[in-house]
Amino acid sequence: MNLELDIIPLKKWVSTYAKPLLIAGPCSAESEEQMLDTAKQIAAFYPNSVFRAGIWKPRTRPNTFEGIGDIGLKWMQAVKRETGLLTATEVANAEHVEKCLKHGIDILWIGARTTVNPFSVQEIADALKGVDIPVFVKNPIYPDLQLWAGALERINNAGIKKIAAIHRGFYSYDNGPFRNSPKWELAIELKTACPELPVICDPSHIGGTPELIPYLAQKAMDMDMDGLMIETHNSPISALSDAKQQITPIELNKIISELNIRSASTANIEVQTKLEELRAIIHKLDNDLLELLAKRMVVSANIGEYKRDNNVTVLQVAHWRKLVETSISSGYQLGLTKEFIKGIYQLIHDESIRKQTEVMNISALLNNPPSSENTQI
Ligand code: PEP
Ligand code: MN
Repeated sequence: MNLELDIIPLKKWVSTYAKPLLIAGPCSAESEEQMLDTAKQIAAFYPNSVFRAGIWKPRTRPNTFEGIGDIGLKWMQAVKRETGLLTATEVANAEHVEKCLKHGIDILWIGARTTVNPFSVQEIADALKGVDIPVFVKNPIYPDLQLWAGALERINNAGIKKIAAIHRGFYSYDNGPFRNSPKWELAIELKTACPELPVICDPSHIGGTPELIPYLAQKAMDMDMDGLMIETHNSPISALSDAKQQITPIELNKIISELNIRSASTANIEVQTKLEELRAIIHKLDNDLLELLAKRMVVSANIGEYKRDNNVTVLQVAHWRKLVETSISSGYQLGLTKEFIKGIYQLIHDESIRKQTEVMNISALLNNPPSSENTQI
């Protein structure tokens, strides 16, 4: 893909830039107290981070919380005044842009539901003509690299040079364990087409659950991404949007402080460099294997539900034997030993059966909970 952008690199305009640029804060602005409490806790750990909060929320369905609206801009100003953090919010039309500029918001971002629509992106670009403000562009909901590149071009053509892409994952039919499939290859292709474009990863919207954030954040760092956007709330369980994926500032600090930030530059000793390269390949492949195994287990659970609904046993020996035989023969042709494939398949099968049994039993319990009568001895 061809992508030429005229960019001012992050380190030239974020005076305190150190990898990763951290953008943290709640999914939505909800109250002044929530904003200030969250921001102060984040600032105590990361005074050079950017505070994020959605003021206008593009929700998939109506009659859910659609953002606090204009009053939230005043709270953003309070956050900036009291913590010194830079502030960032999502804009979806020209009116949002105008209001953000009036209230001194430092960074704007375009959300995944807006990036899909060139009319909306162009409207935002037109509103930004002659303005010097950084703009981050999230990937479109669907895995369409051209739309992502097109949105970046429209913003850049309006004269905005402080730009970055945000990788937040893609809606896809095989999301595996993720809320939005990461499809790392698309972010990598964008970076390859335009190496000077900063790419920020949003593990919150990719993972959809706090447990996946450390893994995704580490992987983003290993892909040499430049920053992380992580939804952080002072009380995630009471959040009005995306409650399931937000973390507390203390959890954020744990995740960030445990990251292993590797340098992309090569060491000067040749052997060490080569070794590093090979290890990086292995590391990537291992991560791919883990993601594939996790995906496979999600399908196993689906099969468990299907078998349950159709009264089929979890274990079907003939089918399993055939599958192992085919895999041993394919693997053998690829240079893998029979014992190795057999061993791996045994482990996968055990876990798959455990997962399916769990699915069957949990739903059996839900449909038919033990009453006090039949549990008495
Ligand atoms: C958000 O950042 O809260 C948001 C709505 O994200 P996305 O546009 O990635 O869905
Ligand atoms: Mn969100």
